[in-house]
Amino acid sequence: MLMNAPRGTKDILPDGIGQWLYLEQKIREICGCYGYKEIRTPLFEHTELFQRGIGDTTDVVEKEMYTFTDRGGRSITLRPENTAAAVRAYLQNKLYAGTALTKLFYIGSMFRYDRPQAGRYREFHQFGVEALGEMNPAVDAEIIILAVRFLESLGLKDLSLSLNSVGCPQCRPVYRQRLQEFFKDKLSGLCEDCQSRYDRNPMRILDCKHEQCQQLSIGAPEITDCLCDECRDHFSRVQEYLRTAGISFQLDPRLVRGLDYYTKTAFEVKYAPLGAQSAVAGGGRYDGLVEEIGGSPTPAVGFAVGLERVLLALEQQQLLPALPDAVDVFVVALGENVQTAAFQLLMAMRSAGLSAQMDFAGRSMKAQMKQANKANARFVVILGEDEVREQAATLRNMQTSEQEKVTMKEIINKLCAEVKG
Ligand code: AMP
Repeated sequence: MLMNAPRGTKDILPDGIGQWLYLEQKIREICGCYGYKEIRTPLFEHTELFQRGIGDTTDVVEKEMYTFTDRGGRSITLRPENTAAAVRAYLQNKLYAGTALTKLFYIGSMFRYDRPQAGRYREFHQFGVEALGEMNPAVDAEIIILAVRFLESLGLKDLSLSLNSVGCPQCRPVYRQRLQEFFKDKLSGLCEDCQSRYDRNPMRILDCKHEQCQQLSIGAPEITDCLCDECRDHFSRVQEYLRTAGISFQLDPRLVRGLDYYTKTAFEVKYAPLGAQSAVAGGGRYDGLVEEIGGSPTPAVGFAVGLERVLLALEQQQLLPALPDAVDVFVVALGENVQTAAFQLLMAMRSAGLSAQMDFAGRSMKAQMKQANKANARFVVILGEDEVREQAATLRNMQTSEQEKVTMKEIINKLCAEVKG
């Protein structure tokens, strides 16, 4: 019986890998420019890390984690996001030593038991950055600018940046209370999830996707009316930095992150044509998280971009680069007696740094030429019994169709000069 990949996962096939390499190259370019260094952490971590690092009351932790007990009896979870793991690695490896600001980026698979649909998968890829150790609003602005400039560097248009401040543990309780007062007599109209959010995490009611919850939250008090002086000042300075950099944004008081360790700045980049899955990037400040994970209080800010959604947006705007997949040389071997000499020549070409292919099935000249065309070969080297006897080969330029006889001795140098010269 043939088996399929699990629901919500996808193979990235040879034809599609170029798009990913292109994205990764753009990511590495911009991160180098902004001084962020790559980090690679394990695909799985202790479950507790995510319970503490994302929060027990979030959908991700309550409903979407791939959690299992390993053979040693430990509870292990496939990472649903990478901020908590980056912070764990930062603490474990003392990446704070000798620097006031640690700047990290990552690219990799994340796993969530989500309901699969276009733009929503169970294994998906994120590019993210984390800046740890600095509370200056310039760093919030720097990472927001990095996210926007990355997306722009791909040529994407029609993106919108939303910005909010979610306050801090000082000012948020006031807001929380106001929200609860607002929703008190609307409670029975809210969805089941929101009814339980009312006590545990009322800010999350504001970003519930249910129509009736969205209707009922019209006119709800706004967090920005409750910010303490420090949060208000921080928020206006982030906006000032963004304006200075020429980044346009809208304020969205409903953009929330409902946990105590998310503080001050929250932002999201959307690409509306993606519909329900329009959020391409999201992030913000999390000044309480490092302490939550066992470190000393450390301000921090970061974001994650969903790469599948970026690819969907690029496809819609026809911005995916056509990546030529060509081979330098295709060796056409005619007859069984030349197989060894052809193989030897093929290996010598590769040792010289040329990309080279040949047919191993002993097909006809016509079939082999067809293969060379399909492989987009720039040159074809034809080797028959006569040529091998003469220690020579026929070299054909596939662009000009010119052919010449070349000795075995000079063939590699000639090809190198043509291809690399
Ligand atoms: P989050 O970690 O939930 O803030 O998500 C950050 C970004 O990751 C989102 O803006 C999406 O672009 C992407 N993302 C989140 N969940 C999924 C998913 N299930 N499938 C594809 N992309 C996702």
